[in-house]
Amino acid sequence: MNGLMMDQPLLISSLLTHAERHHGDQQIVSRRVEGDLHRYTYRDLGQRARRLANALAARGIEKGQRVATLAWNGYRHMELYYAASGSGAVLHTLNPRLHPDQVVWIADHAEDEILFFDLSFLPLIEAIASRVSTIKAFVAMTDRAHMPAESKVPNLLCYEELIEDHSPDFTWPVFDEKAASSLCYTSGTTGNPKGALYSHRSTMLHTYAAALPDALNCSANDVILPVVPMFHVNAWGLPYIACMVGAKLVFPGPWLDGKSLHDLFEAEGVTVSAGVPTVWQGLLAHVESNDLRFSTMRRTIIGGSACPPAMMRAFQERYDVQVLHAWGMTELSPVGAVCTLKPCHRSLDGEQRLALQSKQGRSVFGIDMKIVGADGAELPQDGKASGELMVRGAWVISGYYKGEGAGPLVNGWFPTGDVSTIDADGFMQITDRSKDVIKSGGEWIGSIDLENIAMAHPAVEMAACIAARHAKWDERPLLIVVKKPGQELTREELIRFYDGRIAKWWTPDDVVFVDRIPLGATGKVQKNLLRDAYGNHLMA
Ligand code: ADP
Repeated sequence: MNGLMMDQPLLISSLLTHAERHHGDQQIVSRRVEGDLHRYTYRDLGQRARRLANALAARGIEKGQRVATLAWNGYRHMELYYAASGSGAVLHTLNPRLHPDQVVWIADHAEDEILFFDLSFLPLIEAIASRVSTIKAFVAMTDRAHMPAESKVPNLLCYEELIEDHSPDFTWPVFDEKAASSLCYTSGTTGNPKGALYSHRSTMLHTYAAALPDALNCSANDVILPVVPMFHVNAWGLPYIACMVGAKLVFPGPWLDGKSLHDLFEAEGVTVSAGVPTVWQGLLAHVESNDLRFSTMRRTIIGGSACPPAMMRAFQERYDVQVLHAWGMTELSPVGAVCTLKPCHRSLDGEQRLALQSKQGRSVFGIDMKIVGADGAELPQDGKASGELMVRGAWVISGYYKGEGAGPLVNGWFPTGDVSTIDADGFMQITDRSKDVIKSGGEWIGSIDLENIAMAHPAVEMAACIAARHAKWDERPLLIVVKKPGQELTREELIRFYDGRIAKWWTPDDVVFVDRIPLGATGKVQKNLLRDAYGNHLMA
């Protein structure tokens, strides 16, 4: 016997309809590429997204076709999120930090029909326009006054002109919730990038779960500023969560330096933000050197790579901003685990609490996780055994777009490529990516622990630990370090800093000081490049 409940598909357009109807006056503030601050409401967002949906239909964009963006976080990008997916097309957020050859490869692979871009990416568009094979029109996300006077881009359209010709009357179509809604590619540090194709259903379930108090903890009382780009796994779902809960949204545009972010936090009363550790370094450096405070910021969500405990300490102890450490992947839409403490942790002292918060956290409901050994057998959740992290759930991919990478699942589980432990309370801790793990004399050394220790040294700005080839042990840890400006630090001092903080045999064999560490398109250390450059450092 079936239940007697309405059969309403879970569609992304319903988030916008809800926000418009129940939070119509709530604000969305955007720092624009044009330089000024733009302010409007969810009601305006709804109107303009419907105009845009009409404009897409008028240009012949059909259900399932890909609408690409190359854009920063801003209200026009938000309109595209809802107009494209809401009308049944697939939003494809391209990452502008990738090499132009990769952007061309991905746009062709996705068979994008139309590309919307922020003016700051005009040079990139000019470089790729004649090379992409399926894109029929390029739309500059600006008004007539800011359109480039001359451009080599064929079929160049103006966003504001495109939508002003169309009516705000548009009824969001109702269709199967399993229909594709958006497409994100992994950054492809190994092999070609692979596409994760989300559905309306998976996105909606992810939105419900990620908004929960023990997950990203967002409500109508929040002012959310996503620093994580809307081209990086849909800004971790925040553009959807904000509509679901009716929070004020603040978009930083391209200005992600410490001063711009801090000014915006203070001016707009931001309460929660989200980003990868590398962006917070700039913010903390700015706040520290100018003796500033955060007057409204309560929480910051940090993920994408491990948050060093030194960063947590600075946010929490010096600035009273709680750090929410989170783990996810493009293949998981992306939220998988968030480190929110349980009642049994209330009695922990400061250091114990920090150690717990350094873990990536417990799975949000909807994501099941386990760790397995080399033979595929499940390992105990004792906080000690470490193995490959496997996940399954309604917002985990079942395969890659167009079948790239063959069938990734193993007995119905998605192998994450991360090596982790899970403790008795369900807290998972990543020790490494399986390809970054250091295998010394047959034993594994996790590079994240070694990096966290180095980052706790007051003279260290950034540290990455890689496996360097070693004549006796096969591989040994090698530390690559950027010093803070004006600080002195020797190899010996840093190696001594490990004494008592880690098992002796885990201590890095050597330290290489560099001016900068290469970061990839999503702000993560490119260890493959470091291994290419320094992999033989210990063989000399
Ligand atoms: P890509 O794999 O394309 O770089 P993703 O953003 O999908 O992009 O990266 C997912 C990976 O990032 C995870 O598999 C994990 O290795 C790493 N990661 C994400 N969050 C954390 C975290 N909090 N701590 C450590 N590693 C993390």
